[in-house]
Amino acid sequence: MNWLTRIKTLGDRIKKNLKKTMATKAEQMSSPYTSCHGKPILKKTLEQNNFVCAECNFHHKLEPHQYFSSILFGKNIYTEIDSPVPYEDVLNWEDNKKYTDRLAQAKKASGLKCGILSVEGKIKDIDVVVSCQSWKFIAGSISMPEGENVLSAINTCLEKKLPYVFIAKSSGMRMMTSSLSLAQMTRMTLAVNELKRAGLPFITIITNPTTGGTSASIVPLADIILAEEGAIYGFAGKRIVQNTETRPLDENFQTVEWAKNNGQIDKIVNRKDLKDTLYNLLSILLKKNSEVNSENSNETSELNIKTREAS
Ligand SMILES: [Zn+2]
Repeated sequence: MNWLTRIKTLGDRIKKNLKKTMATKAEQMSSPYTSCHGKPILKKTLEQNNFVCAECNFHHKLEPHQYFSSILFGKNIYTEIDSPVPYEDVLNWEDNKKYTDRLAQAKKASGLKCGILSVEGKIKDIDVVVSCQSWKFIAGSISMPEGENVLSAINTCLEKKLPYVFIAKSSGMRMMTSSLSLAQMTRMTLAVNELKRAGLPFITIITNPTTGGTSASIVPLADIILAEEGAIYGFAGKRIVQNTETRPLDENFQTVEWAKNNGQIDKIVNRKDLKDTLYNLLSILLKKNSEVNSENSNETSELNIKTREAS
């Protein structure tokens, strides 16, 4: 055995031992602990604080049912909007895995038919349609079924004269369906135009991370653009942008705080205030409960301009 083989054997042995000490996926799921800022944290404690770390304020990723049950509506107090799921693997795509296998895995992990779940519910006394993206479904990417889902949600808004809220968390358009995914940017844009034509309010909420074609289509088209604290928001990755720039980028480049300073976001919200903020904004845009939203409300003063624009 030469020295090179010896080093490789030693490396393999270390790797094997490390693997033995790491928790399996099943063990991680069943554990009462998760981790944040390099420390263990009780899942129950995190849940009681809207899935926001009390120590470092990190807003942990939430799946659609968690947003609906824990943040906006209350446990299962909402109705799912049905939408068609067209056959997707039209390109017969395969990279290191078959696309059909990826889809099956995503459906199992998220418990959803596609990467967006749209529902009808009530935020306090305001009826609303909300669509939310799932990170567990191929990193919140958008393809034909997700486009159909947004169209079904917006159709419901048009039929019932309801406001629309879109909670974004996405890596962009799904590469496995190529231009058919990109076409969803246009379809969603046209659907949003119909909302605007009907005078129905549209609010987006940027959550961590929102990138790619999602940040270049449906998200910036809203009447009001909200963002959760600390989220990443941008089109291409920071490193890719840096490669095309001669000067160094800002340290907080592509954070929502940076985007707000550059006029791309209206308001940054802590998750604990999200429901109240949405309620106040919708009240103003729908011209409801005007006496409740008095002038001392931040939302009211910030949004007077928007309301005038909308009317
Ligand atoms: Zn933390």
